[in-house]
Amino acid sequence: MSDKSSSISRPAEPEQRRPSVGVRIGKVTVGGGAPIVVQSMTNTDTEDPASTARQIAELARAGSELVRITVNTPAAAAAVPRIHERLQMMGVEVPIIGDFHYNGHQLLEQEPACAEVLAKYRINPGNVGFGKKKDSQFAAIIEKAIQYGKPVRIGANWGSLDQSMVAALMDENHTRAEPWDAALVAREALIRSAVDSAIRAEEIGLPRERIILSCKVSGVQELIAVYRDLARRCDYALHLGLTEAGMGSKGITASSAALAVLLQEGIGDTIRISLTPEPGAPRTGEVVVAQELLQTMGLRAFTPLVTACPGCGRTTSEFFQELAKTVQEHVRDRMPEWRVKYDGVENLTLAVMGCVVNGPGESKHANIGISLPGNGEAPAAPVFIDGEKAMTLRGERIAEEFIGILDDYVARRYRALPG
Ligand code: SF4
Repeated sequence: MSDKSSSISRPAEPEQRRPSVGVRIGKVTVGGGAPIVVQSMTNTDTEDPASTARQIAELARAGSELVRITVNTPAAAAAVPRIHERLQMMGVEVPIIGDFHYNGHQLLEQEPACAEVLAKYRINPGNVGFGKKKDSQFAAIIEKAIQYGKPVRIGANWGSLDQSMVAALMDENHTRAEPWDAALVAREALIRSAVDSAIRAEEIGLPRERIILSCKVSGVQELIAVYRDLARRCDYALHLGLTEAGMGSKGITASSAALAVLLQEGIGDTIRISLTPEPGAPRTGEVVVAQELLQTMGLRAFTPLVTACPGCGRTTSEFFQELAKTVQEHVRDRMPEWRVKYDGVENLTLAVMGCVVNGPGESKHANIGISLPGNGEAPAAPVFIDGEKAMTLRGERIAEEFIGILDDYVARRYRALPG
């Protein structure tokens, strides 16, 4: 039997990756040559354990391997152990990351159970504290991480730069024979803020194997420049993401453009797509985009992908678009069950094509492909399995029959995993 999947979505060789220090977060490893990890963040009120646990479970079910929640108030910190308990009752084991700003040192001190159940802490060196309190509050959080054996992401952000660092670099810049432009000074401040904080954390006693860095900005070219520089200057594991990417196609395009360049250069150990969800849209959209980015680049495989032509004047009915959508949704819906049942099913490839021009050819390149009849063609849809024409579908039930063929193929083709 030919293996169509291996020619299309073979994972990239690990040698291409930038060497980084691996960090364990629960059962997940970030960096150190491990596969690039997909993560996401909730947008529920953390003080509400029921809705937050529900959304974490949805994100985990969609494939998020780490989920971050904001921990911004004493009530939110108190809710974290209850969220953890609910997830355990639901059988959801995804590691939960606490996002702290301004008062993390107090919340971790006041709520030991919160400090205990979180799998990682995320802090921003630009707002961990101000003035004389900055160093002591930063140290207090790092000491909590050491006490509880937790890793920490030190995440600098363009929108909340450490102003004392910016001022110091501006002064330094004035002394240069050829001063840098303001954008370069700001980039340097962002990188130094993260790297210097990581060095400080190590001096306090947090091992290198428990530190992840990020330096997020909202511009594509700027993000690429920042991370290339950051990757050259340290070997900490790196969290990649374009901050405030925006909504819909703009957010997806900007995130993909920036992250694809960096990932192709081997930079980045975990990614998050910071999409603004459309009103009413599920939060899981950001997980789907992150997975599809990694999968279409051939870096990881998560869910069978459907190759479909764009359609043209040869496909005047919507049936072809509907079938492509039905097939993609079907595999996404079945994947949580297939993933634990069938070994390698994520590498399955599918094609749904609109007419005879490219239909049979593209269908033969997939594990299973269907070529629908275009305008003026005989009302018959040949189905190709592993490169060979296997049958022809006709009539009103083409969609149902094709889904049946797909389910049957998965059950036959992939080795059952131990239950
Ligand atoms: S495969 Fe056929 S229907 Fe699809 S874009 Fe090409 S010519 Fe048009």
